[in-house]
Amino acid sequence: MADANAPVRRRKTPQAGDAAAAAPTKLSAPQQAMRRLGLLRDVDLALHLPLRYEDETRVAPIAALREGETAQVEGVVSDCRIEARSRRQLLVRLRDDSGELLLRFLNFYPSQQKQMAPGQRLRVRGEVRGGFLGREMVHPAIKGVEPGAPLPQALTPVYPTSAALPQAYLRKAVASALARAPLAELLPAPLVPKGLPSLREALQFLHQPPPGAPLPALEERRHPAWQRLKWEELLAQQLSQLRARQERARLQAPQLPVQEGGVREALRAALPFTLTGAQERVVAEIAADLALPQPMHRLLQGDVGSGKTVVAALCAAAAIDAGWQCALMAPTEILAEQHFRKLVDWLQPLGLSVAWLSGSRKGRQREQMLAQVASGEAALVVGTHAVIQHDVAFARLGLAIVDEQHRFGVAQRLALRHKLQAQSLEPHLLMMSATPIPRTLAMTYFADLAVSTLDELPPGRTPVLTKVFTDTRRDEVVARIRDAVTQGRQVYWVCPLVEESEHLDLQNATATHAALAAALPEAGVGLLHGRMPAAEKAAVMARFTQGQMQLLVATTVIEVGVDVPSASLMVIEHAERFGLAQLHQLRGRVGRGVAASACVLLYTPPLSATGKARLRAMAETSDGFEIARRDLEIRGPGEFMGARQSGDALLRFADLHADEALLQHARSLAPRLLAEHPAAARAHVERWLAGRAEFLKA
Ligand code: ADP
Ligand code: MG
Repeated sequence: MADANAPVRRRKTPQAGDAAAAAPTKLSAPQQAMRRLGLLRDVDLALHLPLRYEDETRVAPIAALREGETAQVEGVVSDCRIEARSRRQLLVRLRDDSGELLLRFLNFYPSQQKQMAPGQRLRVRGEVRGGFLGREMVHPAIKGVEPGAPLPQALTPVYPTSAALPQAYLRKAVASALARAPLAELLPAPLVPKGLPSLREALQFLHQPPPGAPLPALEERRHPAWQRLKWEELLAQQLSQLRARQERARLQAPQLPVQEGGVREALRAALPFTLTGAQERVVAEIAADLALPQPMHRLLQGDVGSGKTVVAALCAAAAIDAGWQCALMAPTEILAEQHFRKLVDWLQPLGLSVAWLSGSRKGRQREQMLAQVASGEAALVVGTHAVIQHDVAFARLGLAIVDEQHRFGVAQRLALRHKLQAQSLEPHLLMMSATPIPRTLAMTYFADLAVSTLDELPPGRTPVLTKVFTDTRRDEVVARIRDAVTQGRQVYWVCPLVEESEHLDLQNATATHAALAAALPEAGVGLLHGRMPAAEKAAVMARFTQGQMQLLVATTVIEVGVDVPSASLMVIEHAERFGLAQLHQLRGRVGRGVAASACVLLYTPPLSATGKARLRAMAETSDGFEIARRDLEIRGPGEFMGARQSGDALLRFADLHADEALLQHARSLAPRLLAEHPAAARAHVERWLAGRAEFLKA
């Protein structure tokens, strides 16, 4: 009834089946809107579940209405007039046997005035308020009815929808799709957790709950009907992961066993430090995978500063020793450039050529690079996502390494997969991330992924002391920077994130840079931001790295990977605007050398509850796993793995926190189902994930 105010138009009852079959040009606006929401098949509509419900199954006597409650009443209009009080409005008096209620409309059409003419019988639903003229409803939903018209036998569902898809249209479409959809039980009954209804029963209940159904349990998704849906979803997800893993096991990859006396050994010997125990362990884990004829699909997770780059270099060397090429891809030009320099330092003396590919390198230089990559002369190719552009053809790509892989969007990850699959042999894939994946998340999305963990930092690191200050103590902080700089230390000043405006970011960083340069005339103060040409960025980074500059004012371009061990103080302005994972990444830029390091988080009060929780987490722990756990707690799993960029949540119904027990069940059932009931498993995945499987693999 929420839509009863909408202009009345006669529509043929929508047939969801039609929408999928009809040619795209013949689709009505609501049909197109359904399409955009992915509601193509009857099953898709049946699985499109209400956000909440409206109870239109009961009518309350007007005299019994209480202020603040939402209720439905039925009565006859006794008066309907336009009045110009402080503003023009339509006032309608509705009467039933028990009393009178005022309906107030601040916006209205002439047609509504007609619909509510005196003598008309209306059903009205809205929130009861106490007004100057007695109890009233402002902009209630209204519906004209005949005397004795029956009340609905179910709660009215309110669906997630878009502007072009009216609630009433969607309701009808869902109801008719639900009746038609093939929802037979696919899974053997004994395998379904006890106490859960069948899928059809569950959907019937969720779309059309009977009067008196427990609304809180429904709206908080705790009801057994919801449990059934969530379990099904998790099972589909686990099955598709498992299948992807089995498919991958059938693919062929080049074997890259460790070679005696190769570059890998030479690199190890030449390193200025000894590997940590954790590095030794993960290097061995990866080496074992690379020696197999199936493509590796492994995530190397390790907190910021745990030393992932050298692991990547050793793996690259192994691939090259075996006669194959390696590609290393990083999400930003600064980071890619830094990797390039480091790898050149390490590998060039050993006689290997390292190629550089980025968006900013164009023309003849790029042509030359591409030729070297295509001929196989370039053993190692380092760059941004330019490495996977379509014109880049590798002679013999054996290993692809993706650093900070969660920073790449879904589209880029898909492009990478396609690039890799274009080879006759599928290359091995190593992904690296400093954002540790909480266990439940790893179980769900990475069931298909082997995980290596660097759980140890190189020796000699002292934990970063983190302080949280209000912005009013800015002068104190500047004084502290002056001390640090006088002692020869290096400092980052990170400028706040201005939501959705790169332009403002820049203005802000420029102004801060000017102010700090004026306040600290004795220090070299540099500026780094995303809009600078790549060469200029690289020049600033180089001067900071070489110690010619003591203070670097930067936007979040320095967030990932930047490694300047002598920097030991970081100030983050407006820290309350950053996400927790991002703050942790930023802070990871200090504490990389032997000097005791500190991080100052400046914030502007008042703090929101989540803002407070984030800053407290930062002050209390520097453990990336603990940070990731708290982050998940504070904001839920949606953003991990770049799901946000795709606009498509990975799980629609299940919640990894609340539904861990269901996840466990689905996880242990999936292999058995696939082995013993392969047809049912296939049908189940098809029902749930048709069209989404590609996305889940990314
Ligand atoms: P991340 O895991 O954040 O990518 P890096 O690979 O940038 O970390 O390493 C951080 C710093 O630690 C670098 O300067 C690197 O050279 C140094 N490093 C790596 N491994 C060791 C080690 N075993 N001993 C000492 N320093 C190391
Ligand atoms: Mg790194």
